Amino acid sequence: MTPIRRQYLKIKEAYRDSIVLFRMGDFYETFDEDAHLVARELDITLTGRSLGKNLRVPMAGVPAHSLEPYLVRLVRKGHQVAICEQLSDPATSKGLVDRDVVRVVTPGTVFEDSLLDRQANNYLAALAVDGGQAGLAYADITTGEFAATELPIDQLPLELGRISPSEVLVPDGMAAVLDISGESWRLTSMDDRGFDFERATTSLLSHLHARTLESFGCERLPLAVTAAGAIVEYLDRTRKSSRVQLNNLAVYSTRRFMSLDARTRRNLELFEGGRGREREFSLLAAIDRTRTSLGARLLRRRLGQPLLDLAEVERRLEAVDLLYRNGIVRAEVATALSGVADLERVTGRVVAGSAAPRELLALKAGLAAIPGLRERVDALGPEMQWLRNELVPVPEVVALIEAGIEPEPSGSVGDGNVIRLGFSAEIDQLKDASVNARQYIAGLEQKERERTGIRSLKVGYNQVFGYYIEVSKSQTASLPDDYIRRQTLTNAERYIVPELKEYESVALNARERLAAEEEEVYRRVCGQVAESAAVIMRSSYAIAQLDVVAGLAQAAVDNGYVKPVVDDGPVIRVRDGRHPVVERVLPTGRYVPNDVELSGEARVLVITGPNMAGKSTYIRQVALITLLAQMGSFVPAAEAHIGLVDRIFTRVGLQDDLATGQSTFMVEMVETAAILNQATPRSLVILDEIGRGTSTYDGLSIARSVIEHIHSDPRLGCKTLFATHYHELTQLASSLPGVRNLSVAVTEEGSDVVFLHQIVPGGADRSYGVHVARLAGMPPGVVNRAWEVLDDMEARHGAGQVGTGRGNPSQQLSLFAPGQDLTDTVKSLDLSSMTPIEALNKLYELQERARDSG
Ligand code: ADP
Ligand code: MG
Repeated sequence: MTPIRRQYLKIKEAYRDSIVLFRMGDFYETFDEDAHLVARELDITLTGRSLGKNLRVPMAGVPAHSLEPYLVRLVRKGHQVAICEQLSDPATSKGLVDRDVVRVVTPGTVFEDSLLDRQANNYLAALAVDGGQAGLAYADITTGEFAATELPIDQLPLELGRISPSEVLVPDGMAAVLDISGESWRLTSMDDRGFDFERATTSLLSHLHARTLESFGCERLPLAVTAAGAIVEYLDRTRKSSRVQLNNLAVYSTRRFMSLDARTRRNLELFEGGRGREREFSLLAAIDRTRTSLGARLLRRRLGQPLLDLAEVERRLEAVDLLYRNGIVRAEVATALSGVADLERVTGRVVAGSAAPRELLALKAGLAAIPGLRERVDALGPEMQWLRNELVPVPEVVALIEAGIEPEPSGSVGDGNVIRLGFSAEIDQLKDASVNARQYIAGLEQKERERTGIRSLKVGYNQVFGYYIEVSKSQTASLPDDYIRRQTLTNAERYIVPELKEYESVALNARERLAAEEEEVYRRVCGQVAESAAVIMRSSYAIAQLDVVAGLAQAAVDNGYVKPVVDDGPVIRVRDGRHPVVERVLPTGRYVPNDVELSGEARVLVITGPNMAGKSTYIRQVALITLLAQMGSFVPAAEAHIGLVDRIFTRVGLQDDLATGQSTFMVEMVETAAILNQATPRSLVILDEIGRGTSTYDGLSIARSVIEHIHSDPRLGCKTLFATHYHELTQLASSLPGVRNLSVAVTEEGSDVVFLHQIVPGGADRSYGVHVARLAGMPPGVVNRAWEVLDDMEARHGAGQVGTGRGNPSQQLSLFAPGQDLTDTVKSLDLSSMTPIEALNKLYELQERARDSG
C-alpha cells in the first residue's frame, strides 16, 4: 500500500458518512465505493489507480477548478461531501503532501449561491429533548440568523414545519423516536457530546462573545441552550477552517405567534399555489413588492409567522400606513432599495473569507445607501424613530472598500487588478516594477533593430527559454558581443542579452509577489470589514424591515387594500372582502366582494351552494384576510375588523394524498380529529367539504357531528366556516344557536345556472350538480341521461340517496328525521325483486339505522 493510500484511508475512516473528495493536484479524486457512487451520480468516467503492489482501486475525479457544479449536484441528491485539501505546497514539500478535510458540505451548511434560494432562508436546526419538552434552535449560516425556543415535544412537527429547515440535527438514536421526518429536511444524527449542556454553554458563549446566558434570556431554558450549542458544535465540525459568525441568539416563544400547520399553509396557498404549486399563484406573490433579497426573505418569514401580539401588529400596520399615505417617500425608498445587494449573505461570506471582490463592491453600494434611507425614514415622522435608529451607517467600511478595491476588479484575487492604486505602497511598487520591466521588453525590439541594423529582428517569448531575440540565420554574422545563443531553429537563431534576462526576472518576480501581496491585502480588507459584521447585520435587518413595510404599502396601493382594525375581541367583521390571489387571476373588476361576520353568537357559518359557486374561495378569503392583518399587512376589503386569532386551521375534504399513501378519507378524518383536539375558542377553522370522501350517509353524519362538536364543546366554540354541497346541513341552524346559514346566489336563465358569486343569508336548497356538468361541457346525451336517472332516483328514494334534487326543494335527505327516513325507505323497497338474502340484509341495515338514531 502506498503512503497516499494509507493517508486516504485514515481520512475516509473519520468521514465515513461523507463522500470524500480527495485533492490530488488539479483534481478531487474519489476512491472505492465513493468512486462508484460519484461516477454514477455525476455521470463521469470510473477509472482505476494503482496504489500499491497488486492494489488497483476504483477512482473517479472532478477537476478542482470547476468543483462547484459537481458539488451542487451531489448535495442536491442528498449526499454529504467532505472536501479534503492539500495543506502543504506539493512543489516544496518533501515526501507526502499534508492533507485534511477543510469542510463538510451538508444541506444546512452550504454557502454556494447555486444551492441557495435568494428569496428564502436556508436553515440548519437542532433538537434537544428531555421528557416531554424539546429545545429547538435554528440558524441560517448565510445570514447569521440564530434563534432558539423551548416547546412541548408534540408541537415540534408544527414549529419545524414553519421553519422548514433543510437539515435537522438530532442526538444519536433520537431520529427513530421523534416523529419528525419531514419532506423538506434531512435528519443528521450527532453524538451525545454535541448535545451536552455544559459544553453547549461554553461553546455558545464563546461563539457569541458573551459572558452569561442571561444576556440572551435563556438562562432558564437548558434545552434551548443545548440545541443552540449543538448548532455551534456542528458548524465547527463541518466548516472547520472557514469561519461562520452567527448573530446574537434570539430566544423566542412559539406562543407569540399564530401557528399554521403544514396542511393549512398548503391549503391557503401561502407560498405556492395553483395546480402546479407555482410561486406566482401564492399569497406571497400577491403581496410581495420587496426590492431586495433581504426584504423578500423577511416577508416570507412573516407570512409564515403571523403575530399574536397586538402592539407589534399595530406597530407594523402603522409603519405600512405611513408609507401608504406618503407616496413620494415610498417611491424614494423603493428606488434607494433597488441598488441594495444581499448584505446578509455577502457579509456572511466576507466573514467566512469567501467573498469575491465584486461582492465587496456590492456590499459597499448597499451600505452607502443607508444614510439616504435614514433620511427617508426621518421624513415619515417620529413614529418611525425605532426603525431609523436601527439603520446605522458604517462610513468607515464604505470608505475602506472605496479606497481599497478597484471599481472594475477582476474576478480572482491575485492577478493584480483588485486592489486600487494608492491603497498599498507595496503593491504599487510591484506594479511599477512589472510595468517598467514589461515596457523595457516591449521597447527592446525597436532598440535592438537600431543597434544591429537588422530590420527583421524580433523579440519573442516561450515557456522554456522565456524572452529571446530571434535573428534569421543569414544575418547572424554581425551581431554584437553580448548576444548569447540559446536555441537554433532551421532558419533562425535565438539569443538573449543579460539585460533582457534581468528585466525578465524582475517582471516575473514582481508578478508572483504581486499576486501574494494582493491576496494578503485583500484578506486584510475583508478582515477589517468583518469586524463591523455585527453592525452591518443589524442595519441589514432594518433595511429588510423597511423593504417589507414599503413593499406592503405598495401592494396595498396596487391592489386596493385597506388598513384593518385589529383587537383582541371575539369578532371578525369584513365588508367587501376579496380573495387576494383569485382576484388577481380574474379580469379587473370581475371579482365579486363579500362580507363576513363571525362572533360569539354567529360563530359557525355553514356555506352551501352548487359546485363552482365560490364557496371555497369565500371561506379561504376570510382566513387570508385574518392572516394578512395579523402579520401586519393591509387587507383586500373595504373595511376589516379582526379579533386576534390564535390559530388558523384549514382542511379540505377529498384531497388526494398519494404521497403519504393513506386513503383520502382516512387523511381527512385524521386531520379533522387533529383540529378538534388542538383548536381553542380563539381559533379560526376553515372546513371545506369535510365528509365528502365517503358515502353520503357517512359523510353527512360526520359533517354534522363535527359541526355540533365545534359549536357546543366548551373547549372549542371556535369561529368556523364550513363549506359543503350537502345542503341538508342547513337544518343545523335551527337547532344550534351559534350556527348561521349562508349560500352562494345563483340565478337560472332558462335551463342554465348563472353563478353570481354573491354570498347571501340562508341555505341553498339544491345542488345543481347536473347543471354544472352541463356547464362543464358534458355531451348533451350524457346530461339528458343524468336528468332521467336523477328523476327516477328521486321518484324511487324520495331524493334520499342522491341528495341533489332537480326541482323540488322539499325533497331532501331526511337525515334529521330518522323515523320519516326509515318509513320512506321501507315504502320504496321493491320486495318482489329481492332475494331472501337481500331482504334479510336490508332488514338488518334498517334495524341498525333505527338503533343509531336512538
Ligand atoms: P366552490 O368551492 O363553490 O366549488 P370555488 O370557490 O372553487 O367554488 O370557485 C370556483 C371559481 O369561481 C373560482 O375559481 C373563481 O374563478 C370563481 N369565483 C369564486 N369566487 C368568486 C368571486 N367572489 N367573484 C368572482 N369569481 C369568483
Ligand atoms: Mg370548493
